[in-house]
Amino acid sequence: MTTERTTTRTTGSTTGSTTGSTASSTTAVASDVTFDLRAVLAEMGQATSRLNAINACEANAGNISVTVPTTDAVAGQLDEIFPDSEPYALPTDVPALRGRTVLVSGSQQRLREIEANPTAIVGAVVIDAAGGAVVRSAPDRAFARPTSESNSHLAVHNDYLARSGQNDHLARTGHNDHLARTGHTGIHAVVHAHAPYTTTLSHQFAGRFEAGADPLDFARMIMRWEPELVVHVPHGIGFLPYEVPGSKKLEEASVAGLRVASIVAWAKHGVLARSEKGPLGAVDLIEFIETGARFELDNQRLGNVASGLTDAEIAEIITSFGVEASVY
Ligand SMILES: [Zn+2]
Repeated sequence: MTTERTTTRTTGSTTGSTTGSTASSTTAVASDVTFDLRAVLAEMGQATSRLNAINACEANAGNISVTVPTTDAVAGQLDEIFPDSEPYALPTDVPALRGRTVLVSGSQQRLREIEANPTAIVGAVVIDAAGGAVVRSAPDRAFARPTSESNSHLAVHNDYLARSGQNDHLARTGHNDHLARTGHTGIHAVVHAHAPYTTTLSHQFAGRFEAGADPLDFARMIMRWEPELVVHVPHGIGFLPYEVPGSKKLEEASVAGLRVASIVAWAKHGVLARSEKGPLGAVDLIEFIETGARFELDNQRLGNVASGLTDAEIAEIITSFGVEASVY
């Protein structure tokens, strides 16, 4: 159903190639896995340009982050691409991100400009082994600080990495065999966007939720319009009640919601998606859900003339594709 991409990872290089790089505040993880930060930045640009094409990141809306282990090679690239460094007070506790780098979009920046000017819009939060952090940036940096939703981004990365166990294996052995075997790539992306159709439906559903509706009804309302949706997004979209943007409550709800599904709706606001396939993988999830939401709204505008796939029809797809789905 999905194609694995390897654009952000190459394997087989040996450690030590960055010996002699200029003073870095990072604590590098020795590893035979290398992560090309320029390729990650390029994919962040492709992903956010796609968000722009579906009208999901108006003006300076939306934000994106991608974490990779701070391997020796990454530490060397940080010195080349992001030579400037300043202290950063982490907005939330993220022990599983020690020894990792998080590329993150800057506050008040237009996501659609990442593809043309990645280092103007994106900086690198680098977290050392003791839990201290810095923001690394390039000379063309246009932002004052990382996105105001950094707390949710970092907390979701932290929760995923703590659960996946891939940090432990990488640090202990320096090998990526566990990553290859389990399909983990060592990369993890989080994307927030104002997907218009899904967001409109979240406004509608907020009232039903407050009246006691099953939150899974939000996902079912969207997923009944395409047979493939339950295959590509088997856990649907979580529905999170409205919380103030950037708040601790929103952060905590996001972590809990993204343990179950890979994409959640922030009611009356937008969506948040996470993917171990990188930024394009996260944006794919947003596109899948947004397409279902568009069909739902079209049907409403037409006077609810259709009922979509029935639960029985979707159950048949789940059986024939062997999907582990939690929505049905
Ligand atoms: Zn937003």
